[in-house]
Amino acid sequence: MIEFEQVSKQFPDGTAAVKSFDLTINQGEFFVLIGPSGSGKTTTLKMINRLIDLSDGTIFINGKKISDYDLHELRWNIGYVLQQIALFPHMTIEENIAVVPEMKKWKKEKIARRVDELLEMVGLDPKTYKHRKPSELSGGQQQRIGVVRALAADPEIILMDEPFSALDPISREKLQDDMVNLQKAIKKTVVFVTHDMQEALKVGDRICIMKDGEIVQVGTPNELIYHPINDFVKEFIGKTNQRERPFNLENVLSPTHSQPFDGLKIPVTSSLQETLGALSERDEIEVEKDGKIIGFVNRQAIIQHLVNDMNEGEKSE
Ligand code: ADP
Ligand code: MG
Repeated sequence: MIEFEQVSKQFPDGTAAVKSFDLTINQGEFFVLIGPSGSGKTTTLKMINRLIDLSDGTIFINGKKISDYDLHELRWNIGYVLQQIALFPHMTIEENIAVVPEMKKWKKEKIARRVDELLEMVGLDPKTYKHRKPSELSGGQQQRIGVVRALAADPEIILMDEPFSALDPISREKLQDDMVNLQKAIKKTVVFVTHDMQEALKVGDRICIMKDGEIVQVGTPNELIYHPINDFVKEFIGKTNQRERPFNLENVLSPTHSQPFDGLKIPVTSSLQETLGALSERDEIEVEKDGKIIGFVNRQAIIQHLVNDMNEGEKSE
């Protein structure tokens, strides 16, 4: 059980990110934190495993103040999954999964068994996958490994910060299903951050809607849908069918380029992150699909894409 008692976080620059939070997350519950960007979701999550210190109040895990836990013990017993796939690129899948069990000094055979068991649990054949490097897996498979790694040392609590938002809609829905099934099977306490109400309603036993660092309403999907406490909640629920557009390079292409060209190209399947990375050094890159150059992407187009997304977010908030 995780209990927040009058928890606040004020950053040194004066930003009040979380304001007098009172909240109880039950053992074995799939608990979702949702709210617009900047509402304090990540801060709330990071306070649980002490990646961020509280300014005020107390968080208890199983009745004990988090400040009274040994920091390593606390972190190892809390799995953490991030939005960006954060696997070590030079390590195999097996080595990636084994990181925390190794820190906990598990025996080699126990770790090997655990790796196989976890890979099977998420539908990846251990023989095929455990000796691969992350780059030899699809994005959806890599994020699956991210989830598995968080579960590896059998933590009691799993924190997930928008874990599926960078995935294509199909991988995303599949992983949502997997996560729900997995949690039912292993009965861990999951604290899951999202800004997608559809996702929240799908996975959450209970959902906490946040705004400006405060709790607006906590309830089951049914309670929120049928008894929203105010217009903000009503509107938030209303957003369910307006999902955020996944990034697709084909939507931001221009047919011609404006400058002499150095021939750098990226595949049309590149993520927003990868595209931004490629554009950090130059203004424009060729985009390739099935071995052919299908157009160009430039910084301006990406900025426009980001602005459009932000405008959409604001309109619906
Ligand atoms: P969310 O995850 O809901 O988007 P965050 O918890 O990341 O929100 O941020 C909540 C607020 O705190 C935002 O206004 C954000 O700009 C601010 N914030 C987050 N981290 C810091 C920091 N290290 N220093 C100052 N302000 C921060
Ligand atoms: Mg966040």
